[in-house]
Amino acid sequence: MNILVLNCGSSSVKFQLINTDQQLIELNTDKRLAHGVIERIGGPALVHFSVVNADGSSRSHREAVPLRDHSAAIEKIVQWIISQEANIPGISSYADIAAVGHRVVHGGEELTSSMMITDSVIKQIEDCIDLAPLHNPQNLKGIYAIKKVFGGTAKQVAVFDTAFHHTLPDYAYLYAIPYQFYRRHKIRRYGFHGVSHRYVQYRYRTLVGLERENVNVISIHLGNGCSICAIKAGHSLDTSMGMTPLEGLVMGTRSGDIDPAILEHLSHKEGYSQAEVQSVLNKQSGLLGISGLTNDMRELIAEAVENDDRRAKLAIDVFAYRIKKYIGAYLAAMNGASAVIFTGGIGENSDFVREKIAHGLEWLGLHLDYDRNAATIRGKEGKISQDGSRLEAWVIPTNEELMIARDTFRCVMGLELPR
Ligand code: AMP
Repeated sequence: MNILVLNCGSSSVKFQLINTDQQLIELNTDKRLAHGVIERIGGPALVHFSVVNADGSSRSHREAVPLRDHSAAIEKIVQWIISQEANIPGISSYADIAAVGHRVVHGGEELTSSMMITDSVIKQIEDCIDLAPLHNPQNLKGIYAIKKVFGGTAKQVAVFDTAFHHTLPDYAYLYAIPYQFYRRHKIRRYGFHGVSHRYVQYRYRTLVGLERENVNVISIHLGNGCSICAIKAGHSLDTSMGMTPLEGLVMGTRSGDIDPAILEHLSHKEGYSQAEVQSVLNKQSGLLGISGLTNDMRELIAEAVENDDRRAKLAIDVFAYRIKKYIGAYLAAMNGASAVIFTGGIGENSDFVREKIAHGLEWLGLHLDYDRNAATIRGKEGKISQDGSRLEAWVIPTNEELMIARDTFRCVMGLELPR
């Protein structure tokens, strides 16, 4: 079954076309047929599409073309996928794309697993806009656009970033503010990056041959957004992002955890409105805020190592220290774990950052293997701790699109979803 996976942002759409079915899932041989991104929707958009050849190499297509909205962008993607130019084996008409899987950021308390999109599900996703005003409206644009491009009968599935964390116990998801605010406004921890943490959990147990019930790991997703998840007996027990993706670890431009009294203080001292304070915390903080240079970890490492830049070093130190604190906290919350697992752009590629995080965790039983650590970059997966380390460290490149494609297939076929 050919599944179109869509991830819609405010001015961009990312896609993958994945061929999957029950047998391919069992053999882990699902195939990515094409992928791409359209950026700067609303103006002269930048299109970058690639077809994956049978031997794993790819053919690319780039162009700049005016695209007024998400609907036009998605039409462009679909037209290209079925075109003779793309020449994707077995795909030449709309009917060859069996279903569309959407990444949806916030499912609130009700939408706790992947599901077929019906009018009532759309209404529920709309109801969650309050909780994710920056993300859910973009995801909905993709859903409306597919309805328009394919007609009302298109099979669409929503896969929620919050769903993996629906197993958080109340003592982990409640904030210690008056309980009526939870009841009235649903203010609580939801957690995000759930599709990624779920993939890491699945892939780890496949690699080491464990049943889900026996997976006790800490999954550390370090990309532009960063979050960490305590996975006990295969389920999310706690995670660092909260009601919104602003809480927790230090990120590219987001502050993560902060004393809430700072908001009022900052507003008073700088004369900022509430919106300006939010903008500082979301867009001008994190690695960018501390370094004053960039939110890009690669550039920061270069500044720290080659130019001995003090603030670049400080930003990396604050970043790594926060992660270390969370590892300690989660090991206590879980009563121990067998591994910490790195994923995301930084987690998958930066042996430098991984070493900084692991340094000083020997007391917890984590002994890094420096050669393995240095060798496990650019899409490689595997263990990076020494054999016999009581707490292992792994790198598992995330694959959220694969999870979305598989869930879409299962929902369309009416199959049971993995718990
Ligand atoms: P993501 O959001 O998962 O695409 O991750 C983006 C982040 O990964 C950016 O901060 C990049 O600088 C970082 N990144 C990618 N490659 C490397 C690398 N080789 N070393 C350090 N950071 C990297």
